[in-house]
Amino acid sequence: MSKKISILIPVFNEEGNISAISEAIHIVFEDTSHEYEILFINDGSSDNSLAIIKELCSRDSRLKYISFSRNFGKDNALLAGFKFATGDALVTMDADMQHPPELIHDMIELWEQGNDVIYTYRADRNEHASNLNQFTSRMFYKIINHLSDVELEDGIADYRLLDKKVVTTFNNLHEDRPFFRGLIKWVGFQQIGIPYTPNARANGETKYSNKALTRLALQGITSFSVKPLFIAIYLGLTFSMLSLLYIPYVIYSLYFHLAISGWTSIIVTIAFFGGLQLMILGILGIYLGKLFVQSKQRPHFIIKESNIIE
Ligand code: UDP
Ligand code: MG
Repeated sequence: MSKKISILIPVFNEEGNISAISEAIHIVFEDTSHEYEILFINDGSSDNSLAIIKELCSRDSRLKYISFSRNFGKDNALLAGFKFATGDALVTMDADMQHPPELIHDMIELWEQGNDVIYTYRADRNEHASNLNQFTSRMFYKIINHLSDVELEDGIADYRLLDKKVVTTFNNLHEDRPFFRGLIKWVGFQQIGIPYTPNARANGETKYSNKALTRLALQGITSFSVKPLFIAIYLGLTFSMLSLLYIPYVIYSLYFHLAISGWTSIIVTIAFFGGLQLMILGILGIYLGKLFVQSKQRPHFIIKESNIIE
């Protein structure tokens, strides 16, 4: 029996790309024996995306869609797809044609050789990204690998093939804001990476501002490790050690009746430690906030309409 591949595409204001990407996928599967379905997750688009998706779906039963009630973010869109995809393997890819569809052939081949996760990484990161983006992404991976317990490779894309059993594993995770780049590595199984060269975005603009990327980085670190909490302990220890050095000076001054000059050093010390304490409170706060959000157990997404669920 031929195996079925689900192609999962999150869509947020991609009206110019939808026909092109589904056409490209049809071509990929033309000369294979595999069945396939394309599952579009409309993540609260405000343009014509949904209308275009529905139009395409009405003409081809291999096309499915789920439309959210508002924008829930790409990771949640992927989660929804994991839940409703029916294939033996699942490929996640962006709608903007940056992920070359031909690569699906290689992914399927590696999958059939027994790999469970086939991820892609940018072979040449320098060509299409702006300097700032390059810098932030390099910093991002440096920090995350330093602070967290899973090792991430630089330049990993959200373009992968996952075996059904990996998808099932994800469906059983109950994490509030799943951080896929880390979680994929974390789940284990037989993994293999292949390099790819990203195309330029076909239409529209990137949905990620630098602000959003910073938030993603913070989320990546704090959802994978409690190492930042140790910063407080190390800082505290360092400064208590340093303050020991001050004791001989104080005794010396007392003995020789020297007045220790005061105001400036006190203000500087207060300001410094005030700032330090606030920073550490902030770190504590992030973790507390995560507990707070998690404890509410809100759904990851809300589905407004779909052609696969009644
Ligand atoms: N996307 C989404 N929800 C969002 C932001 C993005 O579903 O809130 C989708 C978007 O439509 C695209 C993919 O995620 O298919 C990647 O987005 P984009 O190309 O803007 O990211 P970049 O390639 O610049 O990292
Ligand atoms: Mg893109």
